[in-house]
Amino acid sequence: MHEEDFCCSICLDVFIDPVITTCGHTFCSFCISQHTILHHNCPMCRQKITMTIPNRQMESCTLRWLEDNGRGTTYSAMKTSNRKKRLYMDRAQMVIWTALADMKNFTGSLAEILSKSSVENDLLRKEVERLLWLYKDVGIVDHRNVNGEVRFTLKGAFQ
Ligand SMILES: [Zn+2]
Ligand SMILES: [Zn+2]
Repeated sequence: MHEEDFCCSICLDVFIDPVITTCGHTFCSFCISQHTILHHNCPMCRQKITMTIPNRQMESCTLRWLEDNGRGTTYSAMKTSNRKKRLYMDRAQMVIWTALADMKNFTGSLAEILSKSSVENDLLRKEVERLLWLYKDVGIVDHRNVNGEVRFTLKGAFQ
């Protein structure tokens, strides 16, 4: 088996917490959850993704391959940092959904969104900001500069 057999086609690195989609393709759990924020199709075959389940066999194969190649210890570190990223992404989504639920067509600055949700953590703040920019690309969020300030309009596309 070669390294590419254990590579996620999204991050081009070895699978971390691999999951298999309904079309049979495998990706890192974090990579595919990030992808499905904006797209509902598989990045490999374009079929609609309806669910993902853990691919434990691929995970043990990946781990064995890493151990055989002297990279066994890096896997657990990668897994931890990946889970932390996932946690922040989930929490940032909650912050944005909360802002959406409070007001149908919310217009405010990032600071207002964050203060309404009492976000004090810097990493979470950055993640909220990053997600809002992602949402902007699919038209869920508008942004514009008012007096040099970035303001967001949440369009309520989640409702
Ligand atoms: Zn990946
Ligand atoms: Zn697929």
